[in-house]
Amino acid sequence: MNQSQSHVERCGFLFFCKFAIQKIAVDLHIPSKYIQNAVEQMASLPGVGKKTALRLVLDLLKRDPKSVEKFSAAFTDLIQNIKKCKSCGVIADNDVCNICLNPKRDQSIVCVVEDLRDVLAIEATESFSGIYHVLGGIISPMDGIGPGDLNFQSLVQKAESGEINEVILALSATMEGDTTNFYIYKKIGQFNLEISTLSRGVAVGSELHYADEITLGRSIMNRMPYSVK
Ligand SMILES: [Zn+2]
Repeated sequence: MNQSQSHVERCGFLFFCKFAIQKIAVDLHIPSKYIQNAVEQMASLPGVGKKTALRLVLDLLKRDPKSVEKFSAAFTDLIQNIKKCKSCGVIADNDVCNICLNPKRDQSIVCVVEDLRDVLAIEATESFSGIYHVLGGIISPMDGIGPGDLNFQSLVQKAESGEINEVILALSATMEGDTTNFYIYKKIGQFNLEISTLSRGVAVGSELHYADEITLGRSIMNRMPYSVK
């Protein structure tokens, strides 16, 4: 391909992009089933509308095809290789996560969280040296999430076996978080262990991972006994 041919193709491509953006702004009819499909996949991500999805897809189209292949391969690798720690449920590359394997962590203190974002938020405070238990969500009848959809079993088994001394309930201070706390309390309250909850430096009604590091760090250090009242 000579330089003028490449220039013509590039101009044609840019014209096509401009045309596609104008078109979607009016009626979202995309003149390519491939782009349409890619936009639909991209727009299925939370917080990504169709216009943003189109902009991202067109940006990928402008890149070197090898870099797009790398982009796509990263997600294929992720889906094929990612695991959940058998012990705590944290997303990990191996069967057991680095936190559970770390001999410096206190295995007798378990901090119960909703998902990986909360683990990362608490780890960033450098205030907690126990291990985690990831539920994979919280009980939310409005969203059709019941106890059977969440990872409670291994927590109850650990509590029953006597291998843990304390469970810290570090769920969001929302109605769903409170419901889940109560459910856990009903399941493990009869065993010989301490159940604590975060001090309310974490704002009521807000999600845990949005709290700043200092507030979250203080909340976990000043945790208080869990009470159903
Ligand atoms: Zn683990």
